Amino acid sequence: MSRYWSAVVRGLKPYVPGEQPKMANLVKLNTNENPYGPSPKVMEAVRAEVGDSLRLYPDPASDKLRDAIASNYGVQSNQVFVGNGSDEVLAHIFLALLKHDAPILFPDVTYSFYPVYCGLYDIEYREIPLTDSFEIRVDDYFVPNGGIIFPNPNAPTARALGLSEIERLLEKNTDSVVVIDEAYIDFGGESAIGLVAKYPQLLVVHTLSKSRSLAGLRVGYAIGQPELIEALVRVKDSFNSYPLDRFAQAGAVAAMQDVEYFDETRRKVMATRDRLSAELASQGFEVLPSAANFVFARHPQKDAAELAAALRECSIIVRHFRKPARIDQFLRITVGTDEQCDALISALKNLLP
Ligand SMILES: *Cc1c(COP(=O)(O)O)cnc(C)c1O
Repeated sequence: MSRYWSAVVRGLKPYVPGEQPKMANLVKLNTNENPYGPSPKVMEAVRAEVGDSLRLYPDPASDKLRDAIASNYGVQSNQVFVGNGSDEVLAHIFLALLKHDAPILFPDVTYSFYPVYCGLYDIEYREIPLTDSFEIRVDDYFVPNGGIIFPNPNAPTARALGLSEIERLLEKNTDSVVVIDEAYIDFGGESAIGLVAKYPQLLVVHTLSKSRSLAGLRVGYAIGQPELIEALVRVKDSFNSYPLDRFAQAGAVAAMQDVEYFDETRRKVMATRDRLSAELASQGFEVLPSAANFVFARHPQKDAAELAAALRECSIIVRHFRKPARIDQFLRITVGTDEQCDALISALKNLLP
């Protein structure tokens, strides 16, 4: 705290990212990164950007990238907004579309960045409890609100909500924006992008950090009808006209176009996830059904914080959330390679009662 700080900064409660330890030979299963590298075509495209053109600003509108995303999903380029990671896209969404008089709604167990944006932009929110089995019950959102946002699949529970439930929400909730954060959708959920044409209040957010193995490149996007996209562009151009550098734009175009590599790696992750879930269940864990690249599990006889600490001693890092209390006995485990998951399973065999 310093007397030079603004009142806004004094009041902030910043997001705490999962750690990126500097140690070598770690089995790093704590931040939901993809265990497989990006497509070789991405490396080629990024390398090709190294040169004299770096003295010039990048395309402020990222036209080629928006075209590549649009053609991938069969939408128009003016229905696509891109940003420096989906976290930045989300930040602009909170300011542009979710800041109204009524509180916004999101689940009590969800992506912990949402309340942080509310603090930053002074937006009121109400947390809607998940059911006892950690599911989103759409009917609980049928109340007046300034907007609705949740991840699908939800984080950190990994549970997916079906498209018919999302459509039921959209039919009821027409006066405020509904944001579906599909950071993990490519690992088995049903995307709501197909509903964008029918529902002008719907915005779907994706990231290249998980299913396209590009957490280090920082690219995310939103798909919605042009008037929602225009609101985001207005905020972007009041903040930073060039959020995506030349490497990010070129690499992201290549990633969107290499569908074959994308399908191959996400299928591998899904297969490993299902095997990991079964192995954990056979060790006595309660494992929530996962449609993501991570699993959320608790062991009835072993304290989660102790287990995370013991795994760390074996150079295996998983994520444990102390809050909210409802989930403090769970571990969130990223799906790694088969070898990494085997290392986890054999370490657990030694640690469990
Ligand atoms: C990882 C994640 C993001 C952020 O992704 P970036 O594009 O890397 O900023 C957003 N929402 C959820 C739910 C996530 O898990």
